[in-house]
This record gives sequence, structure tokens and C-alpha cells, in this order.
Amino acid sequence: MKAVVVYEKGKYEVRDIPLPKISDGEVLIKINYAALCYRDLLQLAGYYPRMKYPIVLGHEAVGIVVESRDARFKPGDRVVPLLHEPDGTCEFCLRGLDAYCVNAGSYGENLDGFFAEYARVSANAIVKVPNNVPDELAVLTPCVLAMIYKGLKKAGLMRGETVVVTGASGGVGIHAVQLAKAMGARVIAVTRSEDKASFIRRFADDVVVASKFSNAVKSLTDGVGADVVIEAVGTPTLDESLRSLRMGGRAIIIGNVNPDETYALRLGYIIMKDVSIIGNVRSNRSDVAETLRLLGSGLVKPVIAVTYPLDRFSDALEFMRNSSRIGKVLIKT
Ligand SMILES: [Zn+2]
Ligand SMILES: [Zn+2]
Repeated sequence: MKAVVVYEKGKYEVRDIPLPKISDGEVLIKINYAALCYRDLLQLAGYYPRMKYPIVLGHEAVGIVVESRDARFKPGDRVVPLLHEPDGTCEFCLRGLDAYCVNAGSYGENLDGFFAEYARVSANAIVKVPNNVPDELAVLTPCVLAMIYKGLKKAGLMRGETVVVTGASGGVGIHAVQLAKAMGARVIAVTRSEDKASFIRRFADDVVVASKFSNAVKSLTDGVGADVVIEAVGTPTLDESLRSLRMGGRAIIIGNVNPDETYALRLGYIIMKDVSIIGNVRSNRSDVAETLRLLGSGLVKPVIAVTYPLDRFSDALEFMRNSSRIGKVLIKT
């Protein structure tokens, strides 16, 4: 089968490799779509310390089970894999917190991932996709939508609250805008691009085009500030994000576009404003299942910038790095 194989730091090629073999408790899936993510760029650049070489890159996919050695799944089931492979037996897995699994492998990092025609996955790591959720939305669920969902749940979002989304035209941002709306929030989207603002306006209640956006957020909230910020960019926008929050506001940190950069946090500001800063590592299996159920309502539309075939992976990567795009980059396998 064809697969994108990273054979050393920063180096990859589309190669022919043997079809994966499965063991008890595992399934073989035929990948329909895989999606590119900023994490793929960071993994190629060597930011992930557990990278094993050679490795099949990719951690976002939707596919069909073609062979199963686990009673929970049968051939023909449409499934999405999590980003990680929980053992199903550790203390965290037993508590339903499989995102914290102490023995979890990670796809595209130390377990072969999904830029390939087929993939081997543990049955502990897949979730069935309801019929009313299309492939193009399912593929975005574990890494993008369920992650946002988990963050908003951790932040205790209530209907009617105001959510600011930074980087609103990005793959995470444009879907965060829609999911927060679907969960009953009023959404203020932030972007630096005037060109993209009109597209984002289709989904958000308000759009602010500025790198210094906190004053605009304040005026849109009668001087109070937002209840929640989804920080989909990272250090470049974090200061303005925290300034945008009301007393007792919550910041969900998802994006980290400059992983080498540090941010000097003034503790007094956090204490006196009673702000919560919420980290957000990968979603749990239950978050993925709950998100897929919510997506069945049709309230969230997949925003896909472009779809490339697997053998044009390098073009897809180039597009991801250099284009001014709205939404996600998909790979059709
Ligand atoms: Zn991802
Ligand atoms: Zn575990």
C-alpha cells in the first residue's frame, strides 16, 4: 500500500509498504480521508520527542473497518481513530479518562498513522461514526471538534455565554466558531485578515479584524469582557485573549503556533481577575462519541480548503505551509 513515511527528522516520501497485520483486539481500516494538521508540521520538524523512525505520518482520519479481531467492531463499520491508542486497562482508562492513559501510544509519532491506504488500530482507539455525519466532518472530529468540545466542557460553557475564538480562519478556528455556536454561545471571531472576515461572518455573530482585539471585544460585550476565549493561535494572541476576558473568565489553550516562544504571565493579573487557564490535550473516546452525536444535528459544516490525493502529499504540505487558506487540508486515500 502507499503511505507517507517519515524516515528521519524532517524527511519523508510516499512509499510502497506492506499492508499492516493485525493482532487480537485490533482492526484494519481502509482510510477514506486523512487530514493535515499543524501537529504534522511540528512532528516533521522534530518537536515531538517520542518520534520513532521510520513512521507513517498522520493522526486524523476516517475509514471503514475491513478486518476485525475485536468483538466490538465488524467489517463495514465506519470509524474514526483517536489521536492516541489507550491500553484500556490503566487507572485513567478505567475512569473514562483515556486521554491521560499512562501507556498510550500516539499515531504518527510512535505508532504508524493515517497518511496511508490502510491502518492498523487498536479497537480501544476507535469510535463508530453515526450515519448522519459525513466523512468530511468525521475526519475532523477527534483532533479538532472533540478537542474544542472537551475544552468548552472543561470551561463549563453555559448557553448564552460569549466565546471569543482567535485564529478564526484556521482549521481549528473556523470549526471552533461553529461548535461554540452549536453549543449555544454567542461567538466573536478574531482574525487578522480582512479578506477572510466576510467568510467567517457566515458563522460568527461578530468578527473583529485586528491584532489588538481586546478593546473591540470589550465594546461588543458592554465593557464587561468575554466569558470564554478559545486560544487557537498561541503566544502571538494570548495577551490580548486574557485582556478580552471578563472577571472570572476562562481561557482554553489549544493553538501553539510558535512552540519555542515563552509567554511571561503576570500572576497578579490572573489572581485579581480570577481567570482560569485551561490546558487541553487530546480528547477522550467519550468526547469523540458525544461530539459526533452533536454533529449529527448538522449545525457544524466542514470547511475544507482543498483536498489532495495521497501521492501529492508534498503539494498538500506546501499548501499547508504557505497558502492563505480557510479551513482544513484533506488527503483522499
Ligand atoms: Zn491534528
Ligand atoms: Zn490506559
